[in-house]
Amino acid sequence: MGKRVLRTPIEVPQWRLSSGTAVVAGLATARLDCAPTTAYVMLGERCSGDCAFCAQARSSAARADLLSRVAWPAYGAEHAAAAISSACDANVLRRICFQVTTGPGHIDRAIDAVRTARSLTDAPICVSVAVPSCEEIGRLLGAGASRVTLAIDAACERVYAATKSGSWAHVRMLLRSAAQAYPRQIGTHLIVGLGETELEMACALQDYVDLDIATGLFALTPIAGTRLASAMPPPLDAYRRLQATRWLLTSRLARQNNLRYDGGGRIISLGMPRERLLQALSDPVDSPFRTSGCRDCNRPYYNERPGGVIYNYPRPLTDTEAQAEVRTLLDSLEPAAFSQV
Ligand code: SF4
Repeated sequence: MGKRVLRTPIEVPQWRLSSGTAVVAGLATARLDCAPTTAYVMLGERCSGDCAFCAQARSSAARADLLSRVAWPAYGAEHAAAAISSACDANVLRRICFQVTTGPGHIDRAIDAVRTARSLTDAPICVSVAVPSCEEIGRLLGAGASRVTLAIDAACERVYAATKSGSWAHVRMLLRSAAQAYPRQIGTHLIVGLGETELEMACALQDYVDLDIATGLFALTPIAGTRLASAMPPPLDAYRRLQATRWLLTSRLARQNNLRYDGGGRIISLGMPRERLLQALSDPVDSPFRTSGCRDCNRPYYNERPGGVIYNYPRPLTDTEAQAEVRTLLDSLEPAAFSQV
């Protein structure tokens, strides 16, 4: 009897696509109320990080194929890359976003994925990843990424300590040095509803605008199995004030210190007369209430349920929606504050 040869199984790299991405790329069929315009691809499995809100956190008991509300079926990397690049050629997908969980070899895995995607398409590629130093950011950009996003998530150190693992000081230092070394190629994510005040979030947004770091604003979405499973999403009126703040600061129409707050850090004035705000914030296409972050990132149903409250509109608003959102926002500000600007 011949000897049995034991072979080491060859690991076939896998990409997890958000379920909407899989449909748009032609790898799955389902009816989509709103299609993603960016291909969202998760690389890696359970994360060694321990964010209190994340389904992939090491202490999370949530399903392994979830990130926020979205399911992420797995496909062979080559197959997924070819399907995504065809969808980019057809202009139905206009960006690729790799969301990388932290673990052994995660940077090399991300670099391989960027190279694979870049060999097939000219579409912008961003990578949301935890890195130990600026050097890895350089390697990702060198491989063909257009932007590297270091998700700090928390508005301030107090909230970071309560909801994230790792060092606030290290991530802040990295964001600053990366923004200097790679201007306009660095982004971050901020989550509203982790326990910060609106003042703390507005200060964080101003800081990233000043550093020329792109910000994507998200609402806490409690997921079963995570440490924040029983937390509440942020009140919609608070989220709208922060979306408007982000938009005004990013458009360089206001600065954080022009805004006014009550004693609990709630925004009561956006520092402009009502009519000016109405004019500035009512564009249904360039609306503060659409998903923010990288161009063409719309993340449908990442923070919301179909038919439920919309935190980030994944599409242009209708004229009626735009008018109604701005009027509701203005009504949530202190009426007396308008006469003092
Ligand atoms: S803003 Fe959107 S496309 Fe950009 S890194 Fe964040 S999730 Fe990805």
